[in-house]
Amino acid sequence: MDRIYKTYQYVWNAAQGLDLRELAGVLSSKNPYWTFDRIMDIEASLGVRSSFNVLDEMRLSERPKSEWLTKTGWKLFAGRYDIDDPDVAATLRVLDAFGWEIGLHGSYTSSENPERFEYEKDRIESVVDTEIIGNRQHYWNLSRPETWRHLSKAGIKYDTSLGSSTDIDFQHGYDLVRPFDDEFVVFPWSLMDGAVMNSGETTEEILANCRDVLAAARHHRSVLVLDWHAGDVFSDTDYPGWGDVYERVIEEALDMGAWVGPPGEFYEAVSHPDGTVEGALESLAQREKPASGAEVPAVSEGGVTDD
Ligand SMILES: [Zn+2]
Repeated sequence: MDRIYKTYQYVWNAAQGLDLRELAGVLSSKNPYWTFDRIMDIEASLGVRSSFNVLDEMRLSERPKSEWLTKTGWKLFAGRYDIDDPDVAATLRVLDAFGWEIGLHGSYTSSENPERFEYEKDRIESVVDTEIIGNRQHYWNLSRPETWRHLSKAGIKYDTSLGSSTDIDFQHGYDLVRPFDDEFVVFPWSLMDGAVMNSGETTEEILANCRDVLAAARHHRSVLVLDWHAGDVFSDTDYPGWGDVYERVIEEALDMGAWVGPPGEFYEAVSHPDGTVEGALESLAQREKPASGAEVPAVSEGGVTDD
């Protein structure tokens, strides 16, 4: 979860005189990046769940003044969500209650400020009233293996920060990575939304690439992390087709016999400290899957609505 409000883009573009009409967007009551309903619908209709990794980022005002007039400063630290926002907090609680996992999305400077992990994890846990065991680093900011050591010390049990923003092929081996030969696990392979969407010219070409990757993962008994930004990329106006491809890749994976679910649930099915993917799959196969199309409530800004 990086961007769930389309605010910094409006303000920045207007300030640059690029398009003054953009400023009207700030006043618009419809927030195009509030896409939780769509994600929940997609997953509930396929009978799967994912993890929402929450970013508790510093504010622009907490950053050095030199960053206040740079686009990078705005992009990284302005227009972020606040986990205390009642709409955000209520949404996270609903996700948690209906079987989604809540994870940590370690903030931009967390790899340099390891004490941030405990602070961010504690804050999100207290807002959602759940236990967080997984992390994915914002912007892939990862020092190996120090960041993993700090995460482990903060109580995180697995990390999904290995991957690439440009490639979808095999990246860091097929097996689970155990940097400390203990129960701390790193998943080796990610399919990031941007890398997937840039892998082909047409949707069919993109899906064919994904099928190849899924087949390789199946052949090698590996784990793939499907890494989509919750929020902006599920807005079809700004990111046409990104949400559809997410849905279709999950469908393909299910058709190929994959187990699809939150990484935390997979982690719990692995025996530690030396269990394999194969062993976890056997253990998961013995459990009952949630019914497809399980009912979930609608979540909108302004609170949870029953319908
Ligand atoms: Zn991020």
